[in-house]
Amino acid sequence: MSTGQMLARVPFRYVGQNLERGELFSLRGSPRDNQLLGIGYMIPFDKNEHRDMACDNCGKHFATEGFYIAHKSKKGGCLAPSPDITKGETAMLLNIDLQKLTVEE
Ligand SMILES: [Zn+2]
Repeated sequence: MSTGQMLARVPFRYVGQNLERGELFSLRGSPRDNQLLGIGYMIPFDKNEHRDMACDNCGKHFATEGFYIAHKSKKGGCLAPSPDITKGETAMLLNIDLQKLTVEE
């Protein structure tokens, strides 16, 4: 099991952290790690493919300029909570069948 840097492909809650789309984070050895990887919620960070842009306000890291800009342009500032994402939206972002989404929220 990898313990390296990961990239959140969709917003989700991970070991008490509310991850945003495109946010970089470290694995914590959660029992859900394999499931989250398998379903595509997160993928390993690849420094050849992704960027690493740190927010100058909160210090979060993002994998692309688009995700960074989305973070910076949130209503109420970058630390404002992200709107909840539905299972349907998650399935759409991951381009998978809704039926395959089995991760407990
Ligand atoms: Zn920020």
